[in-house]
Amino acid sequence: SRPLRCGRPNRPRRFAMTNLSDTQILVIEDEPDLRAGIQHNLELEGFKVQTSADGRDGLRKARDGQAALILLDLMLPGMPGLEVLRHLREIGRETPVIIISAKGQDRDKVQGLELGADDYVTKPFGLSELLARIRAVLRRTQAGAKAGVGERTNTGTVM
Ligand code: CA
Repeated sequence: SRPLRCGRPNRPRRFAMTNLSDTQILVIEDEPDLRAGIQHNLELEGFKVQTSADGRDGLRKARDGQAALILLDLMLPGMPGLEVLRHLREIGRETPVIIISAKGQDRDKVQGLELGADDYVTKPFGLSELLARIRAVLRRTQAGAKAGVGERTNTGTVM
């Protein structure tokens, strides 16, 4: 078999999550087609999905809502994604965040990880990759919450 390449799991393992229907994901992305596509596919997977097309509105929803995970685009109207993330962490919200970045935003990506993002995907990304990363982050953070430790290994940061 081929060796695993970093950042591209070739066969995401199906994960039996008992309470997936209670797991809400907030998608902050201003590209309508991408946002709708992500929403549709996450709902097919059994997630509850809330969306926002604007950074400021997204921050409000992230702050007031019950999202278990946030997908956060970087280039957003209203407020840039990195500012959304910074504000969230400043007010003590530790909701896991996966950054959606465009090609060439490597510096922003690194800064996002330093600000406390848990992972990132680079556009264009495949749905299976996105789902694998969502599951991995949820697994890590939910396992960490259960064990009472903030385990952030692998691709995550150690902030
Ligand atoms: Ca955008």
